[in-house]
Amino acid sequence: MKILEDKIFRTISEEAEKAGTRAFVIGGFVRDYFLQRPCNDIDIVVEGSGIGLAEKVAEVMKTRVSVFRNFGTAMIRKNGIEIEFVGARKESYRRESRKPIVENGTLEDDQNRRDFTINAMAFSLQKENYGCLIDPFGGIKDLQKGIIRTPLDPDTTYSDDPLRMIRAIRFATQLGFSILEESFDAIIRNRERISILSKERITDELHKIIMSGHPSTGFELLDKAGLLEMIMPQLTNLKGVETMEGKGHKDNFSHSLKVLDNLAEKSDNLWLRWAALLHDIGKPATKKFEPGTGWTFHSHDYVGSKMIPALFKQLRLPANEKMKYVQKLVQLHLRPISLVQEEVTDSAIRRLLFDAGNDIDDLMLLCEADITSKNESIVRKHRKNFALVREKLITVEEKDRIRNFNPPVTGEMIMQTFDIQPGPAIGKIKEIIKNSILDGIIPNEYEAAYSMMLELGKEMGLEKKATCITQLPND
Ligand code: ATP
Ligand code: MG
Repeated sequence: MKILEDKIFRTISEEAEKAGTRAFVIGGFVRDYFLQRPCNDIDIVVEGSGIGLAEKVAEVMKTRVSVFRNFGTAMIRKNGIEIEFVGARKESYRRESRKPIVENGTLEDDQNRRDFTINAMAFSLQKENYGCLIDPFGGIKDLQKGIIRTPLDPDTTYSDDPLRMIRAIRFATQLGFSILEESFDAIIRNRERISILSKERITDELHKIIMSGHPSTGFELLDKAGLLEMIMPQLTNLKGVETMEGKGHKDNFSHSLKVLDNLAEKSDNLWLRWAALLHDIGKPATKKFEPGTGWTFHSHDYVGSKMIPALFKQLRLPANEKMKYVQKLVQLHLRPISLVQEEVTDSAIRRLLFDAGNDIDDLMLLCEADITSKNESIVRKHRKNFALVREKLITVEEKDRIRNFNPPVTGEMIMQTFDIQPGPAIGKIKEIIKNSILDGIIPNEYEAAYSMMLELGKEMGLEKKATCITQLPND
């Protein structure tokens, strides 16, 4: 137990002995130690006062301690590692809340209240058996076999705190483990219990599932357990394949999960991963069968992006620039595909660059992840097409600098030049100049835009002020 030779554990051990209490390392740290996963938060459980021990340890180590009296916990931060101290607890639950009645307890009581056998293991910090593993439920065996199992009766464990059902699925996804069958059956039986959870806690777990290496596993398990339709019916609505006149469409649920997995291989951007998961949520609302043509989902990009604010609200996700980013990517996800034809104009490329701005690279990653055909030659063809789009984007961007485009003539300049007050004429002139640049009618330069402004003003019956001060941008 090399890590336990660390000074910090020795100090905790010595201070616990002085205080006449016993202390243990417990939970995630012990699990991750055996899995050789990095772990930056260490939980210490004390048969006595967690806060008291933390204060003593902090004094010896000359660090600060943060105390959370309401929770009976205290935290020390040292070299980027967070050590949380808590008194051992015995818990009993009431039906209507996941907040238990808490009493002081022993290590054994504390291990009994843990969610899974692999999370209930402890290392002793007592001198006489320093570094010994205390594993009453066979957590080590479950770790080796890759099994998620509750220490006590799963129906009680899940019903007491239904968040554990989602945690089970999250750990199965993160670690590539399987949930013991009888445990999974208990999740199915207790699924309605998630109604007592706060949306924020559920969403935190969803984030962790989305950020794992193979996130589809988590969503498939949530679905199988009957939890997903309660958490995000917009996703389960994507399920199913309908056939008419011998024509079917793809199952948009499994497709969306595949897109998410594909994207997860390329990017750790949480919100881009959300966009991948949600890119087709407008499909059920726009699905039509058109005789002769087959299934269509016209405007599902637009409809999908309009569904995002309500979905974010429902999941207590922020209504900020992250949401706008997801909306934008959902709205634009079909645009690059429309640029694959040979004869696509620079104008169409400029418009996409303008609409996507700095998110253009993320959009291309999403589009490439959106290729989920099982037919290798189709996949190759699409990949090649997107490579061509990428080339065109680079060529046009180098030439015209559209990504961070701000039209070179401002409203302020228009008002000064023609000596007019704010009004519709200004927006009109600006809009025409912007479109002319994007359409390549004039170059993206100040001189050309300024002359165009004068011409437009003239057409609109505006007169240029005699002595007008014009300022070049960036002057
Ligand atoms: P991670 O930090 O990756 O989320 P973790 O196992 O450390 O994993 P935490 O939420 O930090 O998870 O919790 C620390 C420990 O507390 C867990 O290992 C587990 O023993 C216990 N625990 C956390 N949440 C619950 C819960 N809802 N029910 C029972 N025990 C829990
Ligand atoms: Mg943790």
